[in-house]
Amino acid sequence: MQIDFTNKNVIVTGSSQGIGKKIAETFAESGAHVVLTDIDQETLEKTKNEFEEEGYACTAQVCNVTNKTEVQKLIKNTYAELGSLDVLVNNAGITKDTLLMRMKDEDWDTVIETNLKGAFLTTRASIRYFLKQRAGSIINISSVVGLTGNAGQSNYSASKAGLIGLSKSVAQELAPRNINVNLVAPGFIKTKMTEKLPEDVKNKYLDNIPLKYFGAPEDVANTVIFLASPLAKYITGQVIKVDGGMVM
Ligand code: NAP
Repeated sequence: MQIDFTNKNVIVTGSSQGIGKKIAETFAESGAHVVLTDIDQETLEKTKNEFEEEGYACTAQVCNVTNKTEVQKLIKNTYAELGSLDVLVNNAGITKDTLLMRMKDEDWDTVIETNLKGAFLTTRASIRYFLKQRAGSIINISSVVGLTGNAGQSNYSASKAGLIGLSKSVAQELAPRNINVNLVAPGFIKTKMTEKLPEDVKNKYLDNIPLKYFGAPEDVANTVIFLASPLAKYITGQVIKVDGGMVM
């Protein structure tokens, strides 16, 4: 079966760059109307222009996922302008890595607020639309460190583990209305987020990847598209690892 998202509307948070941008691009290539949204106006505009040059159907709205008012506006506008919301991808995420003994309250709070509360806010704001439609798919981007933990990333790992708990609970609440909620847990994917890591840290990760290469944003995007498609209609509440075999 060909994956076709014609007449489907998709929101991808944090979609100006990196994995989110690739997810949005893959949906757009499959015929969807994509709502691009990110915290920074300038990068968002740049991405919207690129999409329009490619002829992709898209709109763009700045939204900081930690801001309840902005999130509500994003969902409300999407529904008002497009008439339906078929797929929500909670991709926006940040890291503030340091050992726990050195971690500032702010490092903890901003990571949890963005990665976990952000997904709570967007999901809560969109649920009534999904329920009314009795169809839809929510996909949350977690991380393998949400399953394993990682020294120096206690805030990030906690946020990504929390996202798994949130998603599995919402999956149970929404399953009777034919709404699927799943997670993708990437391993090491080459983006701005991982670019900043020191070479020795990158080499250590590589040693632990059985496939012996880092992932690309499209590896995550292809999994997201599959999960949002009818091919995955019997899958809900699941964490799909995309990590070259790093965590088995
Ligand atoms: P990225 O290149 O840094 O992209 C993340 C995007 O989210 C950026 O455009 C960022 O904007 C935006 N963002 C940050 N805070 C936001 C907020 N409060 N509201 C809205 N947007 C916000 O990172 P990535 O590597 O593509 O990561 C995407 C997702 O995959 C994240 O959830 C990440 O945790 C997860 N992930 C990545 C990897 C990896 O190896 N790369 C592995 C596992 C999981 P600014 O840059 O302007 O702040």
